[in-house]
Amino acid sequence: DQTSPYTGRFAPSPSGPLHFGSLVAALASFLDARKSGGRWLIRIDDIDPPREMPGAGDLILHTLEQHGLTWDGDVLWQSSRSEAYLAHLEELTQLGLIYPCSCTRQHIKAMGGIYNGQCRQGAENKAELALRLKLYDLPGSLTSLPHQVRFIDSIQGEQVQDLALEVGDAVVRRKDGLFGYQLAVVLDDLHQGVTHIVRGADLLPVTARQIRFFEILHKSIPAYSHVPVAAINGLKLSKQNHAPALNNADATINIWRALVFLRQNPPQELQRTSLTTLLTWAQTHWDKEVLKGAGQILPLTPS
Ligand code: GLU
Repeated sequence: DQTSPYTGRFAPSPSGPLHFGSLVAALASFLDARKSGGRWLIRIDDIDPPREMPGAGDLILHTLEQHGLTWDGDVLWQSSRSEAYLAHLEELTQLGLIYPCSCTRQHIKAMGGIYNGQCRQGAENKAELALRLKLYDLPGSLTSLPHQVRFIDSIQGEQVQDLALEVGDAVVRRKDGLFGYQLAVVLDDLHQGVTHIVRGADLLPVTARQIRFFEILHKSIPAYSHVPVAAINGLKLSKQNHAPALNNADATINIWRALVFLRQNPPQELQRTSLTTLLTWAQTHWDKEVLKGAGQILPLTPS
């Protein structure tokens, strides 16, 4: 529906095949967009080759299709966006918002783990420098932006983060030349016209700085909904801890289980219907209100 103001997206990093935890996030953002009559886009966050698995992007897309999660328009690959990122960095540099930084991981550890803006005063002259974007105490038209970012997450409620004390200026270009991930996400969400971000609560801690990027760019801020992430023995299901890849042959039951995890109470008998019937039911009944108060991490009950 081109007339709906809602544009949502799912933005997996291709570090491995789709697992149950990422299916939950994909399904939540898909259902939220479809229930609102909105568009649902896919972006593949292939911006960090050392952490990627060759072919994982295509594998993820295939798994989404096999699970009936069909998207609108063309897939956006972050690897195709370098020129746009560079142009934005140039613009932000002109505004006096970016500075080179020579601090190492050890330096930052000695600062207490949060970067304290030391190189705003000038970096040591080194061959390899990262570039940081100022997030607070900003010049020019941005002076009035406070240290604290406050926002209401539709599921997790009110959130407050102090960018100076809890975050620190953001790396937007790494020493190895790769782009900083957080700014790329925001530039791409703007490029794709994303209005609603529904994703896992593991991304809640990066949301305040992303909001600050929107503010710095003078753009409106999307609505955020962070769904609980699945955990086994308190450990988040992730590619890093070897969550198993989804089996496409079990698509209907996978979706059914994801709906149970999202507390949507799918009727038992829908386990044995077609995927289309199940997704139609899910779209009609989608209600993210039931996740309020559920927290950021929920145990995955064995099926
Ligand atoms: N690519 C990120 C991840 O897989 C998600 C980015 C986002 O949804 O904003 O963790």
